[in-house]
Amino acid sequence: MTQLLKAKEGVITREMEIVAAEEGKSPEEIRQKVASGEVVIPANINHQNLHPKGIGAGLKVKVNANLGTSENRCFYEDELKKLKVAIKAGADAVMDLSTGGNLDEIRRAIIKESSVPVGTVPLYQAAAETLNKYGDISRLDPELLFDVIERQAADGVDFMTVHVGVNREILKVLDRFPRVTEVVSRGGSLTIAWMEKNGRENPLYEQFDRLLDICRKYDVTLSLGDGLRPGSIADATDQLQIMELMKLGELVKYAQNQGVQVMVEGPGHVPINQIEMNVKLMKRLCGNAPFYVLGPLVTDIAPGYDHITAAIGGAWAAYFGADFLCYVTPAEHLGLPTVEDVEEGVIALKIAAHAADLARGNREAWNRDYEMSVARKELNWERQFELAINPERARKMRIERGSQDIKSCSMCGELCAMKIMNERGGKNA
Ligand code: SF4
Repeated sequence: MTQLLKAKEGVITREMEIVAAEEGKSPEEIRQKVASGEVVIPANINHQNLHPKGIGAGLKVKVNANLGTSENRCFYEDELKKLKVAIKAGADAVMDLSTGGNLDEIRRAIIKESSVPVGTVPLYQAAAETLNKYGDISRLDPELLFDVIERQAADGVDFMTVHVGVNREILKVLDRFPRVTEVVSRGGSLTIAWMEKNGRENPLYEQFDRLLDICRKYDVTLSLGDGLRPGSIADATDQLQIMELMKLGELVKYAQNQGVQVMVEGPGHVPINQIEMNVKLMKRLCGNAPFYVLGPLVTDIAPGYDHITAAIGGAWAAYFGADFLCYVTPAEHLGLPTVEDVEEGVIALKIAAHAADLARGNREAWNRDYEMSVARKELNWERQFELAINPERARKMRIERGSQDIKSCSMCGELCAMKIMNERGGKNA
């Protein structure tokens, strides 16, 4: 039985208790939010060493890190290293988006090693297997897709992205709304190409009940992907994006009524002034289901720094109610991220999540900032390192900038404002 079905029956699960303790809430409050669909706890019954996390309204903002091989860069050890680094940097979930090598093997290794929820996009594996076999993605057999979904669910995948909003109804009007960057979602573009070539409906939309049966069996949380998300600032919040979102809203309700936990994915590329509208519209259309945003990136012009453009967008989106931020690394739009890129990406989005937690009035976030301010005032460097988002980097920088032998730091030296005021005997607030 899924967390949602248990919550609806009034049962408080072990997972709900863990989430409640981490969030400073009562288990009953978490149960009610899971029952209403406002919170999900992605926790596949077969993911053995999982430390469950809650995602949704009223909880701390969570961050996801994407991992995975590609056809061009396929080193399993690197992906496992990225997993370790991502978790150490504070990732609350990871997605295995591998498309190169033995996909079952790499996914099983990631699930085995991961204490945080693991997500996938099963269509990637089905497409990769089809491409290997026939050299032609349009020959993808829907039966293979469902076989991959069942395989991944049985392995312990906690959440799956499915592009169920891309259907023949939308296909009919696709060309009526021209875009600068057309379709940038891999899942969205694969689905469109397959439907057009085969003259058939999206199998995940057509057989949604079959998908829900598998999810209910293993308690896989569905993440309804935005296959038509805008891939550029010029395309943000256009008709296609909103049409798809309306369809996803319908499917959210349907899935929840079938006892399946569900969240919804959002854009993409969005200028700052449209973020609030995007989040509020999604929450309204999708019954306040958890909102999982990809960044969003607030400008298109910063390849090499897209972890920063995503952190700016992520902070705003989370402040207005987004619950789950998918990280973006400095390598976005340029190549498969390295281990270092993964660390940079997670930390950038953790800062965004924390900034939003502060603005949303989270007590724990406020206390951490308060303690950091006190440590700064006292020039207590060890305490500052303990509280820092990346203690190792902060310590290393202090040493490298020639501050380790002085009480203040090399920025102002003897003219340190903190030191001067401390010597004056001022009182802390
Ligand atoms: S030296 Fe300047 S920058 Fe460094 S701690 Fe003191 S006031 Fe802050």
